[in-house]
Amino acid sequence: MEKREQLYEGKAKKVYATDDPALLIVSYKDDATAFNGKKKGTIAGKGVINNQMSNALMRRLESQGVPTHFVEELSERETLVKKVAIVPLEVIVRNVSAGSFAKRYGVAEGIVFSAPTVEFSYKNDALDDPLICLPHIFALGLATKEEMDTIIDLALGVNAFLKEFWAGCGVTLVDFKIEFGRLADGTIILADEISPDTCRLWDSATGEKLDKDRFRRDLGGVEDAYAEIMRRLKAHG
Ligand code: 5GP
Repeated sequence: MEKREQLYEGKAKKVYATDDPALLIVSYKDDATAFNGKKKGTIAGKGVINNQMSNALMRRLESQGVPTHFVEELSERETLVKKVAIVPLEVIVRNVSAGSFAKRYGVAEGIVFSAPTVEFSYKNDALDDPLICLPHIFALGLATKEEMDTIIDLALGVNAFLKEFWAGCGVTLVDFKIEFGRLADGTIILADEISPDTCRLWDSATGEKLDKDRFRRDLGGVEDAYAEIMRRLKAHG
């Protein structure tokens, strides 16, 4: 597999073309941003952890029947993935109140829901990724009804698997954001990443935050939290 020109540089990753038009290489950076790029920093070693964690989780999800973009881990920071056209939605699943949910409804963090919730944000930096409902997704032509049915089913399946997996590591999966893409034939698959950047992960016993909220909220111990969550994942086997 030959690495070719850089196609894109995002906040946390770079994407390169390869000699195969159906495959791309993703390279994870240590750069961290929050609040739509208004807060910037570096989390030493984050790129390696996010790459390895995302791949480990996507491999497991594939074996559970969830189609993903993962093809092969090439190095500590680089992974070969299937090329997709990203559906411009952030798909957010919540098991416990936190973050924007707690703020929007004026409730405490930590309320355990009786069933998971699924919501969507329109991926648009200029608009600050606004919350969007299904009728507006259809009105804007962002995805079809059939595609959204698939996306919701897959998102809930991902949640059920990850919630149980993290529970086995002594970690509560509070919420997470995932993204989906379309292959050339229109098939919807899981893309982007699953990492402490995109999930809220709380120690089940102490409630300690082991995710990017330590960076967003200036809680300190950011690198240690990322290292600890990776250690738990590896210990789980
Ligand atoms: P909230 O809407 O409460 O801010 O975020 C809910 C979940 O989705 C959290 O786990 C958060 O990490 C993730 N999330 C939401 N928006 C983004 C985003 O723009 N970037 C990243 N990395 N994660 C996000």
